[in-house]
Amino acid sequence: MSAHIGVTGLAVMGANLARNLARNGYTVALHNRSVARTDALLQAHGGDGDFVRTETLAELVDSLERPRRVLIMVQAGAPVDSVIADLVPLLDEGDIIIDGGNSFYEETRRREESLRAKNLHFVGVGVSGGEEGALNGPSIMPGGSKESYDSLGPMLEKISAKYNGEPCCAWVGTDGAGHYVKMVHNGIEYADMQVIGEAFDLMRSLAGIEPREQAGVFREWNTTDLASYLIEITSEVLEQEDETTGRPLVDVVVDSAGQKGTGRWTAISGLEVGSPVTAIAESVFARSISSQRELRAVTNATFSAGVDETLSATEKYGSAEDRQDFVEDVRKALYASKLVAYAQGLDMLVAAGEEYGWELDLKAIASLWRAGCIIRADLLDTIMKAYDAPRDQQPKNLLLAPEFNEAINECLPAWRRVVAAAATYGVPAPVFSSSLSYYDSLRRERLPAALTQGLRDYFGAHTYKRVDKEGTFHTQWSGDRSEIDA
Ligand code: NDP
Repeated sequence: MSAHIGVTGLAVMGANLARNLARNGYTVALHNRSVARTDALLQAHGGDGDFVRTETLAELVDSLERPRRVLIMVQAGAPVDSVIADLVPLLDEGDIIIDGGNSFYEETRRREESLRAKNLHFVGVGVSGGEEGALNGPSIMPGGSKESYDSLGPMLEKISAKYNGEPCCAWVGTDGAGHYVKMVHNGIEYADMQVIGEAFDLMRSLAGIEPREQAGVFREWNTTDLASYLIEITSEVLEQEDETTGRPLVDVVVDSAGQKGTGRWTAISGLEVGSPVTAIAESVFARSISSQRELRAVTNATFSAGVDETLSATEKYGSAEDRQDFVEDVRKALYASKLVAYAQGLDMLVAAGEEYGWELDLKAIASLWRAGCIIRADLLDTIMKAYDAPRDQQPKNLLLAPEFNEAINECLPAWRRVVAAAATYGVPAPVFSSSLSYYDSLRRERLPAALTQGLRDYFGAHTYKRVDKEGTFHTQWSGDRSEIDA
Protein backbone atom coordinates (compact mmCIF):
# COMPACT_ATOMS: atom_id res chain seq x y z
CA MET A 1 0.00 0.00 0.00
CA SER A 2 1.29 3.47 -0.88
CA ALA A 3 1.83 5.90 1.94
CA HIS A 4 -0.17 9.13 2.01
CA ILE A 5 2.76 11.21 3.15
CA GLY A 6 6.45 10.82 3.93
CA VAL A 7 8.24 12.47 6.83
CA THR A 8 11.98 12.96 6.81
CA GLY A 9 13.61 14.19 10.02
CA LEU A 10 12.33 12.27 13.01
CA ALA A 11 13.62 14.25 15.97
CA VAL A 12 10.96 15.39 18.43
CA MET A 13 8.86 17.50 16.04
CA GLY A 14 9.02 15.19 13.01
CA ALA A 15 8.35 12.10 15.10
CA ASN A 16 5.34 13.64 16.79
CA LEU A 17 3.85 15.00 13.56
CA ALA A 18 4.33 11.57 11.97
CA ARG A 19 2.55 9.95 14.93
CA ASN A 20 -0.22 12.53 14.77
CA LEU A 21 -0.72 11.80 11.05
CA ALA A 22 -0.76 8.05 11.69
CA ARG A 23 -3.20 8.37 14.57
CA ASN A 24 -5.48 10.25 12.21
CA GLY A 25 -5.59 7.32 9.80
CA TYR A 26 -2.86 8.27 7.33
CA THR A 27 -0.19 5.84 6.26
CA VAL A 28 3.11 7.57 6.97
CA ALA A 29 6.44 6.68 5.39
CA LEU A 30 9.30 7.39 7.79
CA HIS A 31 12.84 8.48 7.04
CA ASN A 32 15.70 9.92 9.05
CA ARG A 33 19.32 10.55 8.10
CA SER A 34 20.41 8.13 10.80
CA VAL A 35 18.23 5.03 10.61
CA ALA A 36 18.50 4.44 14.35
CA ARG A 37 16.04 7.29 14.96
CA THR A 38 13.50 5.72 12.59
CA ASP A 39 13.79 2.39 14.35
CA ALA A 40 13.53 3.98 17.78
CA LEU A 41 10.31 5.67 16.74
CA LEU A 42 8.86 2.46 15.32
CA GLN A 43 9.84 0.52 18.38
CA ALA A 44 8.33 2.98 20.82
CA HIS A 45 5.27 4.09 18.87
CA GLY A 46 4.82 1.75 15.91
CA GLY A 47 1.39 0.91 17.30
CA ASP A 48 0.11 4.46 16.74
CA GLY A 49 -0.92 3.64 13.17
CA ASP A 50 0.33 2.57 9.75
CA PHE A 51 3.98 3.38 9.15
CA VAL A 52 6.32 2.44 6.31
CA ARG A 53 9.95 2.14 7.36
CA THR A 54 12.48 3.44 4.85
CA GLU A 55 16.22 3.82 4.99
CA THR A 56 16.90 6.13 2.07
CA LEU A 57 15.16 9.11 0.53
CA ALA A 58 14.73 7.07 -2.67
CA GLU A 59 12.84 4.41 -0.71
CA LEU A 60 10.78 7.10 0.97
CA VAL A 61 9.79 8.66 -2.36
CA ASP A 62 9.05 5.25 -3.89
CA SER A 63 6.66 4.42 -1.09
CA LEU A 64 4.38 7.44 -1.66
CA GLU A 65 1.10 7.86 -3.54
CA ARG A 66 0.97 10.63 -6.17
CA PRO A 67 1.20 13.54 -6.05
CA ARG A 68 3.88 12.75 -3.51
CA ARG A 69 3.95 14.69 -0.30
CA VAL A 70 7.22 14.81 1.60
CA LEU A 71 7.33 16.64 4.91
CA ILE A 72 10.81 17.82 5.87
CA MET A 73 11.30 18.21 9.63
CA VAL A 74 15.06 18.62 9.87
CA GLN A 75 17.04 21.33 11.57
CA ALA A 76 16.30 24.73 10.02
CA GLY A 77 18.90 26.31 7.73
CA ALA A 78 21.41 24.50 5.50
CA PRO A 79 20.06 20.99 6.30
CA VAL A 80 16.75 21.93 4.65
CA ASP A 81 18.55 22.90 1.42
CA SER A 82 20.59 19.74 1.54
CA VAL A 83 17.51 17.51 1.93
CA ILE A 84 15.71 19.41 -0.86
CA ALA A 85 18.71 18.94 -3.15
CA ASP A 86 18.64 15.19 -2.48
CA LEU A 87 14.87 14.97 -2.96
CA VAL A 88 14.49 16.93 -6.20
CA PRO A 89 15.97 14.33 -8.59
CA LEU A 90 13.69 11.70 -7.07
CA LEU A 91 10.43 13.62 -7.53
CA ASP A 92 8.10 14.28 -10.48
CA GLU A 93 6.19 17.35 -11.60
CA GLY A 94 3.37 18.29 -9.25
CA ASP A 95 4.88 16.58 -6.21
CA ILE A 96 4.87 18.57 -2.99
CA ILE A 97 7.78 19.26 -0.66
CA ILE A 98 6.70 20.61 2.69
CA ASP A 99 9.00 22.34 5.16
CA GLY A 100 7.39 22.25 8.60
CA GLY A 101 10.43 23.61 10.46
CA ASN A 102 11.10 27.11 11.71
CA SER A 103 12.62 28.34 8.46
CA PHE A 104 13.28 31.99 7.75
CA TYR A 105 10.56 33.25 5.40
CA GLU A 106 13.05 34.72 2.91
CA GLU A 107 14.62 31.28 2.54
CA THR A 108 11.17 29.81 2.02
CA ARG A 109 10.49 32.38 -0.70
CA ARG A 110 13.78 31.53 -2.37
CA ARG A 111 13.18 27.77 -2.16
CA GLU A 112 9.62 28.10 -3.42
CA GLU A 113 10.70 30.12 -6.42
CA SER A 114 13.45 27.73 -7.35
CA LEU A 115 11.25 24.64 -6.97
CA ARG A 116 8.36 26.27 -8.85
CA ALA A 117 10.74 26.61 -11.80
CA LYS A 118 11.13 22.80 -11.61
CA ASN A 119 7.32 22.36 -11.50
CA LEU A 120 7.44 21.17 -7.93
CA HIS A 121 5.34 22.62 -5.15
CA PHE A 122 7.13 23.89 -2.10
CA VAL A 123 5.05 24.62 0.95
CA GLY A 124 6.55 26.40 3.94
CA VAL A 125 4.36 25.52 6.90
CA GLY A 126 4.46 27.31 10.24
CA VAL A 127 3.80 24.82 13.02
CA SER A 128 3.26 26.06 16.55
CA GLY A 129 2.65 24.26 19.79
CA GLY A 130 5.98 22.60 20.51
CA GLU A 131 6.30 18.86 20.76
CA GLU A 132 3.03 18.38 22.62
CA GLY A 133 1.16 20.35 19.95
CA ALA A 134 2.83 18.39 17.15
CA LEU A 135 1.52 15.17 18.66
CA ASN A 136 -1.94 16.21 19.75
CA GLY A 137 -2.80 19.02 17.39
CA PRO A 138 -0.70 22.06 16.54
CA SER A 139 -1.71 25.37 15.06
CA ILE A 140 -0.71 25.12 11.41
CA MET A 141 0.02 28.05 9.07
CA PRO A 142 0.68 26.80 5.54
CA GLY A 143 1.99 28.96 2.69
CA GLY A 144 2.87 27.84 -0.84
CA SER A 145 0.54 27.62 -3.81
CA LYS A 146 -3.22 27.43 -3.38
CA GLU A 147 -3.17 24.39 -5.66
CA SER A 148 -0.85 22.50 -3.31
CA TYR A 149 -3.20 23.31 -0.42
CA ASP A 150 -6.04 21.54 -2.23
CA SER A 151 -4.06 18.33 -1.96
CA LEU A 152 -2.36 18.92 1.36
CA GLY A 153 -4.90 21.01 3.26
CA PRO A 154 -7.37 18.30 4.32
CA MET A 155 -4.51 16.30 5.84
CA LEU A 156 -3.09 19.27 7.74
CA GLU A 157 -6.53 20.37 8.90
CA LYS A 158 -7.22 16.89 10.23
CA ILE A 159 -4.10 16.79 12.39
CA SER A 160 -4.37 20.41 13.56
CA ALA A 161 -5.71 21.67 16.87
CA LYS A 162 -9.45 22.30 16.91
CA TYR A 163 -11.24 25.26 18.43
CA ASN A 164 -14.93 24.54 18.93
CA GLY A 165 -14.51 21.87 16.28
CA GLU A 166 -12.91 24.24 13.75
CA PRO A 167 -9.40 23.35 12.55
CA CYS A 168 -6.62 25.74 13.49
CA CYS A 169 -5.19 25.40 10.00
CA ALA A 170 -5.87 27.37 6.83
CA TRP A 171 -3.90 28.44 3.80
CA VAL A 172 -2.52 31.87 4.62
CA GLY A 173 -0.87 32.98 1.38
CA THR A 174 1.69 32.14 -1.28
CA ASP A 175 5.37 31.23 -0.94
CA GLY A 176 6.78 32.31 2.46
CA ALA A 177 3.49 33.59 3.95
CA GLY A 178 3.08 30.59 6.25
CA HIS A 179 6.52 30.94 7.77
CA TYR A 180 6.07 34.70 8.00
CA VAL A 181 2.81 34.37 9.93
CA LYS A 182 4.43 31.81 12.24
CA MET A 183 7.35 34.19 12.76
CA VAL A 184 4.99 37.00 13.77
CA HIS A 185 3.17 34.56 16.06
CA ASN A 186 6.50 33.93 17.76
CA GLY A 187 7.24 37.65 17.93
CA ILE A 188 3.93 38.21 19.71
CA GLU A 189 4.80 35.27 21.95
CA TYR A 190 8.02 37.05 22.95
CA ALA A 191 6.05 40.19 23.87
CA ASP A 192 3.38 38.17 25.65
CA MET A 193 6.01 36.55 27.87
CA GLN A 194 7.86 39.80 28.47
CA VAL A 195 4.74 41.63 29.72
CA ILE A 196 4.04 38.73 32.06
CA GLY A 197 7.61 39.03 33.34
CA GLU A 198 7.23 42.77 33.85
CA ALA A 199 4.01 42.29 35.79
CA PHE A 200 5.71 39.68 37.97
CA ASP A 201 8.70 41.91 38.65
CA LEU A 202 6.58 44.97 39.48
CA MET A 203 4.26 43.09 41.82
CA ARG A 204 7.21 41.62 43.65
CA SER A 205 9.48 44.67 43.71
CA LEU A 206 6.85 47.27 44.49
CA ALA A 207 4.20 45.37 46.42
CA GLY A 208 6.25 42.54 47.91
CA ILE A 209 4.10 39.80 46.45
CA GLU A 210 6.16 36.62 46.42
CA PRO A 211 6.05 34.01 43.64
CA ARG A 212 3.76 31.53 45.42
CA GLU A 213 1.23 34.25 46.13
CA GLN A 214 1.56 35.53 42.58
CA ALA A 215 0.69 32.04 41.33
CA GLY A 216 -2.75 32.71 42.81
CA VAL A 217 -2.88 36.19 41.27
CA PHE A 218 -2.17 34.78 37.81
CA ARG A 219 -4.69 32.01 38.35
CA GLU A 220 -7.25 34.66 39.16
CA TRP A 221 -6.21 36.71 36.12
CA ASN A 222 -6.81 33.66 33.98
CA THR A 223 -10.52 34.11 34.66
CA THR A 224 -10.43 37.67 33.22
CA ASP A 225 -9.96 39.00 29.70
CA LEU A 226 -6.30 37.99 30.07
CA ALA A 227 -7.28 34.30 29.96
CA SER A 228 -4.65 32.49 27.92
CA TYR A 229 -2.29 29.55 27.89
CA LEU A 230 0.71 31.66 28.90
CA ILE A 231 -1.07 33.19 31.90
CA GLU A 232 -2.22 29.70 32.90
CA ILE A 233 1.28 28.21 32.81
CA THR A 234 2.74 31.27 34.58
CA SER A 235 0.85 30.30 37.72
CA GLU A 236 2.23 26.76 37.43
CA VAL A 237 5.82 27.95 37.03
CA LEU A 238 5.47 30.42 39.91
CA GLU A 239 4.16 27.88 42.36
CA GLN A 240 6.85 25.35 41.52
CA GLU A 241 9.16 24.73 44.46
CA ASP A 242 12.82 23.87 43.91
CA GLU A 243 13.47 20.31 45.07
CA THR A 244 16.93 21.04 46.47
CA THR A 245 16.50 24.38 48.20
CA GLY A 246 12.77 24.55 48.84
CA ARG A 247 12.80 28.03 47.32
CA PRO A 248 10.53 29.04 44.46
CA LEU A 249 12.01 27.51 41.31
CA VAL A 250 11.92 30.91 39.62
CA ASP A 251 14.46 32.14 42.19
CA VAL A 252 17.05 29.51 41.36
CA VAL A 253 16.72 29.68 37.57
CA VAL A 254 19.43 31.83 35.92
CA ASP A 255 17.81 35.09 34.79
CA SER A 256 19.15 34.98 31.27
CA ALA A 257 16.54 34.27 28.59
CA GLY A 258 17.49 32.27 25.52
CA GLN A 259 16.27 32.86 22.01
CA LYS A 260 16.33 30.89 18.81
CA GLY A 261 15.83 33.75 16.39
CA THR A 262 12.18 34.12 15.43
CA GLY A 263 11.67 37.16 17.69
CA ARG A 264 14.77 38.79 16.25
CA TRP A 265 13.59 38.06 12.70
CA THR A 266 10.23 39.64 13.50
CA ALA A 267 11.86 42.80 14.83
CA ILE A 268 14.18 42.99 11.79
CA SER A 269 11.31 42.44 9.41
CA GLY A 270 9.32 45.13 11.24
CA LEU A 271 12.15 47.54 10.54
CA GLU A 272 12.33 46.42 6.93
CA VAL A 273 8.63 46.82 6.16
CA GLY A 274 8.47 50.04 8.21
CA SER A 275 6.09 48.65 10.82
CA PRO A 276 6.74 49.79 14.41
CA VAL A 277 6.71 46.50 16.31
CA THR A 278 8.06 48.14 19.44
CA ALA A 279 6.66 45.61 21.90
CA ILE A 280 8.27 42.72 20.04
CA ALA A 281 11.59 44.52 19.53
CA GLU A 282 11.75 45.58 23.19
CA SER A 283 11.08 41.98 24.20
CA VAL A 284 13.96 40.76 22.07
CA PHE A 285 16.21 43.46 23.55
CA ALA A 286 15.06 42.56 27.06
CA ARG A 287 16.27 39.00 26.43
CA SER A 288 19.56 40.36 25.09
CA ILE A 289 20.06 42.51 28.18
CA SER A 290 19.22 39.53 30.38
CA SER A 291 21.97 37.59 28.62
CA GLN A 292 24.62 40.23 29.36
CA ARG A 293 25.32 38.69 32.73
CA GLU A 294 28.95 39.75 33.01
CA LEU A 295 28.10 43.36 32.29
CA ARG A 296 25.11 43.24 34.65
CA ALA A 297 27.31 41.97 37.47
CA VAL A 298 29.35 45.16 37.12
CA THR A 299 26.49 47.59 36.52
CA ASN A 300 24.44 46.08 39.32
CA ALA A 301 27.22 46.96 41.73
CA THR A 302 27.86 50.40 40.22
CA PHE A 303 24.67 52.01 38.89
CA SER A 304 22.44 53.69 41.42
CA ALA A 305 18.66 53.89 41.08
CA GLY A 306 18.66 57.53 42.07
CA VAL A 307 15.76 56.89 44.42
CA ASP A 308 15.47 55.83 48.01
CA GLU A 309 15.85 52.09 47.62
CA THR A 310 15.52 51.53 51.33
CA LEU A 311 11.77 51.99 50.96
CA SER A 312 10.34 48.55 51.45
CA ALA A 313 7.57 47.24 49.30
CA THR A 314 5.12 47.52 52.16
CA GLU A 315 5.99 51.19 52.61
CA LYS A 316 5.21 51.83 48.96
CA TYR A 317 1.95 49.90 48.97
CA GLY A 318 1.30 49.77 52.67
CA SER A 319 -2.26 48.68 53.17
CA ALA A 320 -3.75 45.50 51.83
CA GLU A 321 -6.18 47.66 49.90
CA ASP A 322 -3.39 49.66 48.25
CA ARG A 323 -1.70 46.44 47.32
CA GLN A 324 -4.92 45.07 45.85
CA ASP A 325 -5.38 48.25 43.83
CA PHE A 326 -1.81 48.02 42.57
CA VAL A 327 -2.29 44.41 41.48
CA GLU A 328 -5.38 45.43 39.53
CA ASP A 329 -3.44 48.32 37.97
CA VAL A 330 -0.72 45.90 36.89
CA ARG A 331 -3.32 43.57 35.39
CA LYS A 332 -4.70 46.41 33.32
CA ALA A 333 -1.23 47.58 32.26
CA LEU A 334 -0.46 44.03 31.20
CA TYR A 335 -3.67 43.73 29.18
CA ALA A 336 -3.21 47.09 27.46
CA SER A 337 0.43 46.29 26.60
CA LYS A 338 -0.60 42.89 25.30
CA LEU A 339 -3.21 44.51 23.07
CA VAL A 340 -0.49 46.80 21.70
CA ALA A 341 1.71 43.78 20.93
CA TYR A 342 -1.12 42.14 18.99
CA ALA A 343 -2.03 45.39 17.24
CA GLN A 344 1.57 45.86 16.15
CA GLY A 345 1.96 42.24 15.03
CA LEU A 346 -1.23 42.39 12.96
CA ASP A 347 -0.25 45.76 11.44
CA MET A 348 3.03 44.21 10.50
CA LEU A 349 1.23 41.40 8.68
CA VAL A 350 -0.66 43.95 6.61
CA ALA A 351 2.58 45.79 5.77
CA ALA A 352 4.35 42.55 4.87
CA GLY A 353 1.35 41.47 2.78
CA GLU A 354 1.74 44.63 0.72
CA GLU A 355 5.50 44.16 0.46
CA TYR A 356 5.41 40.51 -0.60
CA GLY A 357 2.07 40.35 -2.41
CA TRP A 358 0.21 38.22 0.13
CA GLU A 359 -3.48 38.76 0.76
CA LEU A 360 -3.35 37.96 4.43
CA ASP A 361 -6.74 37.57 6.09
CA LEU A 362 -6.32 38.82 9.66
CA LYS A 363 -9.55 37.27 10.85
CA ALA A 364 -8.50 33.86 9.52
CA ILE A 365 -5.01 34.23 11.00
CA ALA A 366 -6.43 35.11 14.43
CA SER A 367 -8.61 32.00 14.16
CA LEU A 368 -5.53 29.80 13.64
CA TRP A 369 -4.01 31.02 16.90
CA ARG A 370 -7.02 30.15 19.07
CA ALA A 371 -5.84 26.64 19.89
CA GLY A 372 -2.72 24.49 19.64
CA CYS A 373 -0.23 27.34 19.73
CA ILE A 374 1.58 29.17 22.50
CA ILE A 375 -0.26 32.50 22.24
CA ARG A 376 -3.71 30.92 22.35
CA ALA A 377 -5.95 33.27 24.28
CA ASP A 378 -9.61 34.18 24.67
CA LEU A 379 -8.69 37.57 23.26
CA LEU A 380 -8.31 36.04 19.78
CA ASP A 381 -12.07 35.53 19.51
CA THR A 382 -12.56 39.25 20.03
CA ILE A 383 -9.81 40.01 17.51
CA MET A 384 -11.64 37.85 14.97
CA LYS A 385 -14.81 39.86 15.54
CA ALA A 386 -12.86 43.10 15.08
CA TYR A 387 -11.78 41.95 11.61
CA ASP A 388 -15.10 40.41 10.63
CA ALA A 389 -15.65 42.83 7.75
CA PRO A 390 -14.42 43.35 4.19
CA ARG A 391 -10.83 44.61 4.11
CA ASP A 392 -11.77 48.22 3.37
CA GLN A 393 -14.07 48.31 6.38
CA GLN A 394 -11.66 46.73 8.82
CA PRO A 395 -10.07 48.89 11.52
CA LYS A 396 -6.75 50.39 10.39
CA ASN A 397 -5.28 49.34 13.70
CA LEU A 398 -6.62 46.79 16.15
CA LEU A 399 -6.89 49.44 18.88
CA LEU A 400 -9.36 51.34 16.70
CA ALA A 401 -11.88 48.49 16.89
CA PRO A 402 -14.59 49.76 19.28
CA GLU A 403 -14.22 46.88 21.74
CA PHE A 404 -10.46 47.39 22.03
CA ASN A 405 -10.66 51.17 22.06
CA GLU A 406 -13.00 50.84 25.01
CA ALA A 407 -10.71 48.33 26.71
CA ILE A 408 -7.70 50.63 26.34
CA ASN A 409 -9.67 53.59 27.74
CA GLU A 410 -10.64 51.46 30.68
CA CYS A 411 -6.99 50.46 31.28
CA LEU A 412 -5.32 53.81 30.61
CA PRO A 413 -5.26 55.44 34.07
CA ALA A 414 -3.92 52.22 35.61
CA TRP A 415 -1.43 51.76 32.78
CA ARG A 416 -0.05 55.28 33.33
CA ARG A 417 0.17 54.75 37.11
CA VAL A 418 2.09 51.51 36.67
CA VAL A 419 4.56 52.95 34.15
CA ALA A 420 5.05 55.97 36.44
CA ALA A 421 5.63 53.71 39.47
CA ALA A 422 8.12 51.61 37.50
CA ALA A 423 10.07 54.74 36.54
CA THR A 424 9.82 56.25 40.04
CA TYR A 425 11.22 53.22 41.79
CA GLY A 426 13.60 52.08 39.07
CA VAL A 427 11.97 48.82 37.97
CA PRO A 428 12.51 48.11 34.26
CA ALA A 429 9.26 47.77 32.33
CA PRO A 430 10.34 48.20 28.71
CA VAL A 431 7.22 46.83 27.04
CA PHE A 432 4.72 48.40 29.46
CA SER A 433 6.33 51.79 28.94
CA SER A 434 7.18 51.62 25.23
CA SER A 435 3.66 50.35 24.47
CA LEU A 436 2.22 53.32 26.29
CA SER A 437 4.48 55.61 24.25
CA TYR A 438 3.35 53.87 21.07
CA TYR A 439 -0.27 54.45 22.05
CA ASP A 440 0.42 58.09 22.92
CA SER A 441 2.32 58.57 19.67
CA LEU A 442 -0.68 57.33 17.70
CA ARG A 443 -2.98 59.49 19.78
CA ARG A 444 -1.10 62.78 19.37
CA GLU A 445 -2.16 65.18 16.65
CA ARG A 446 1.38 66.48 16.18
CA LEU A 447 4.64 64.64 16.75
CA PRO A 448 8.14 66.08 17.18
CA ALA A 449 8.97 64.51 13.82
CA ALA A 450 8.46 68.04 12.48
CA LEU A 451 11.61 69.05 14.35
CA THR A 452 13.40 65.94 13.07
CA GLN A 453 12.55 67.06 9.55
CA GLY A 454 13.89 70.53 10.31
CA LEU A 455 17.15 69.06 11.56
CA ARG A 456 17.46 66.73 8.59
CA ASP A 457 16.91 69.65 6.27
CA TYR A 458 19.52 71.68 8.19
CA PHE A 459 22.39 69.23 8.05
CA GLY A 460 21.58 67.24 4.94
CA ALA A 461 19.20 69.31 2.79
CA HIS A 462 16.74 66.43 3.05
CA THR A 463 13.81 68.84 2.45
CA TYR A 464 10.42 68.90 4.15
CA LYS A 465 6.74 69.26 3.36
CA ARG A 466 4.49 71.98 4.80
CA VAL A 467 1.11 71.59 6.46
CA ASP A 468 -0.31 74.57 4.58
CA LYS A 469 0.70 74.04 0.96
CA GLU A 470 1.69 71.35 -1.54
CA GLY A 471 5.28 70.80 -2.56
CA THR A 472 8.70 70.06 -1.14
CA PHE A 473 10.77 72.75 0.52
CA HIS A 474 14.24 73.52 1.74
CA THR A 475 15.43 76.34 3.98
CA GLN A 476 18.78 77.80 2.96
CA TRP A 477 20.26 77.35 6.43
CA SER A 478 23.79 78.39 5.56
CA GLY A 479 22.60 81.33 3.46
CA ASP A 480 19.92 83.89 4.16
CA ARG A 481 17.59 81.25 5.67
CA SER A 482 14.91 81.89 3.10
CA GLU A 483 12.76 78.99 1.97
CA ILE A 484 12.91 77.67 -1.57
CA ASP A 485 10.94 75.07 -3.53
CA ALA A 486 13.09 71.98 -3.55
P1 NDP B 1 16.12 19.55 15.32
O1 NDP B 1 15.96 20.96 14.88
O2 NDP B 1 16.85 19.26 16.57
O3 NDP B 1 16.80 18.74 14.11
C1 NDP B 1 17.18 17.38 14.24
C2 NDP B 1 16.78 16.61 13.00
O4 NDP B 1 17.37 17.18 11.84
C3 NDP B 1 17.25 15.16 13.09
O5 NDP B 1 16.27 14.36 12.50
C4 NDP B 1 18.53 15.21 12.27
O6 NDP B 1 18.89 13.96 11.74
C5 NDP B 1 18.10 16.14 11.16
N1 NDP B 1 19.20 16.72 10.43
C6 NDP B 1 20.08 17.66 10.87
N2 NDP B 1 20.94 17.98 9.90
C7 NDP B 1 20.62 17.23 8.81
C8 NDP B 1 21.12 17.13 7.50
N3 NDP B 1 22.16 17.86 7.09
N4 NDP B 1 20.54 16.26 6.66
C9 NDP B 1 19.49 15.54 7.06
N5 NDP B 1 18.95 15.58 8.28
C10 NDP B 1 19.50 16.44 9.16
O7 NDP B 1 14.68 18.84 15.39
P2 NDP B 1 13.31 19.34 16.04
O8 NDP B 1 12.39 18.18 15.91
O9 NDP B 1 13.49 19.97 17.37
O10 NDP B 1 12.83 20.53 15.07
C11 NDP B 1 12.59 20.32 13.70
C12 NDP B 1 12.17 21.64 13.10
O11 NDP B 1 10.96 22.08 13.73
C13 NDP B 1 13.17 22.78 13.31
O12 NDP B 1 13.12 23.64 12.20
C14 NDP B 1 12.66 23.49 14.52
O13 NDP B 1 13.06 24.84 14.59
C15 NDP B 1 11.15 23.39 14.27
N6 NDP B 1 10.31 23.51 15.45
C16 NDP B 1 10.69 22.98 16.63
C17 NDP B 1 9.88 23.12 17.75
C18 NDP B 1 10.26 22.53 19.04
O14 NDP B 1 9.53 22.75 20.01
N7 NDP B 1 11.36 21.76 19.10
C19 NDP B 1 8.61 23.85 17.68
C20 NDP B 1 8.26 24.28 16.38
C21 NDP B 1 9.10 24.12 15.32
P3 NDP B 1 19.84 12.95 12.62
O15 NDP B 1 18.90 12.26 13.56
O16 NDP B 1 20.41 12.04 11.61
O17 NDP B 1 20.85 13.79 13.31
